[in-house]
Amino acid sequence: MEFRDLRKQYKVLKDDINREIADVCNNATFIGGEPVKKLEQELADYVGVKHCISCANGTDALQLALMAWGIGAGDIVFVPDFTYFSSGEVVSAVGAVPIFVDIDPVTFNLDPEALRNAVECCREEPDYNGLKAKAVIAVDLFGLPADYDRIRPICEEYDLLLLEDGAQGFGGIVRQRDGTEKRACSFGDIGTTSFFPAKPLGCYGDGGAVFTDSDEWASLIRSYAVHGKGASKYDNIRIGMNSRLDTIQAAILSVKFEAFKRYELSDVNKVADYYTSNLQDTKLRLPVIPQGMFSSWAQYTVVIPEDVDRDDVITELKENGIPAMVYYQKPMHRQKAFAGTISAEADCPVAEDICRRCLSLPIDPYKTEKEIDEVKKVLFCLI
Ligand SMILES: *Cc1c(COP(=O)(O)O)cnc(C)c1O
Repeated sequence: MEFRDLRKQYKVLKDDINREIADVCNNATFIGGEPVKKLEQELADYVGVKHCISCANGTDALQLALMAWGIGAGDIVFVPDFTYFSSGEVVSAVGAVPIFVDIDPVTFNLDPEALRNAVECCREEPDYNGLKAKAVIAVDLFGLPADYDRIRPICEEYDLLLLEDGAQGFGGIVRQRDGTEKRACSFGDIGTTSFFPAKPLGCYGDGGAVFTDSDEWASLIRSYAVHGKGASKYDNIRIGMNSRLDTIQAAILSVKFEAFKRYELSDVNKVADYYTSNLQDTKLRLPVIPQGMFSSWAQYTVVIPEDVDRDDVITELKENGIPAMVYYQKPMHRQKAFAGTISAEADCPVAEDICRRCLSLPIDPYKTEKEIDEVKKVLFCLI
């Protein structure tokens, strides 16, 4: 069994993908061009924001957002302690300081109360003198949108910009109080995603995108992504980077995005539901999707009971041909890259506990009930 079966997806979409790639080769426009423009428009429409700016990967997308906001030396950005390294890395990359915040034990997402405490703490702590709190990066971990209903008011109260890291969240939905639905990557002042192959919507290499309603930020991001261009890429008015989505990747995404909308997103939810209904009678803690929310299931992550050795579970699954992964082994504040800085001083007991006990099981839209039954059989013997 594959952890995420990209080969099976290719088999299904092969004719269309091959044709799209051949079109790009025949046109010999490999950077920019119509496929990129068209994809950006389709993604913006789907997410429900005015602008989509594609770029080279999800890490650059985050960094471009911080650059557009002018975040740098002397600034604090709050980041969940349980996420992929990029979410914190980009903060340091622009010269600012990430302060890691604990997570909710049920959703694994940023805990709004812990965020409020961290913000308050930074205002009082003499060590933080000279540093100014500027932004929050909320991550839609494993496909589930963060708790924006509670995070947004905190950002407003303390005058913080909100950046949604939707690298794993693309396709997620939150029903609003007025009954309408709002999609992932539209919850922040800026939202970002990644098209890394294993993400909910992936290409065949690296890719990413930035989403925003702001004309000003969109045009800054377009400039930063192409060497700080002014009127043209040979007129350089700020220091930027080289971060573009290849035309071939855009063409591949156009096919994958159709499949994503048409059936993949609903099918992966069926797979997740099947897991959840079949693993009820184990001692595993299963993922919970709060009322009114819809996940894009980048991962199906369970929590192993205290008295069970996670390594034994992984070994037993592996011996039965089932790959399982630990997302994530280490809370952010314990990563060596932050050692010796104030970022390493975070107190995040929930993130620590989840890192010790989490386990992600194989999931993708193409998994069959038979495959999930195999996983279930092994887990039932163990837990
Ligand atoms: C994958 C990921 C990123 C980075 O995306 P890349 O395209 O690999 O650069 C950022 N944040 C989170 C939460 C991710 O899972």
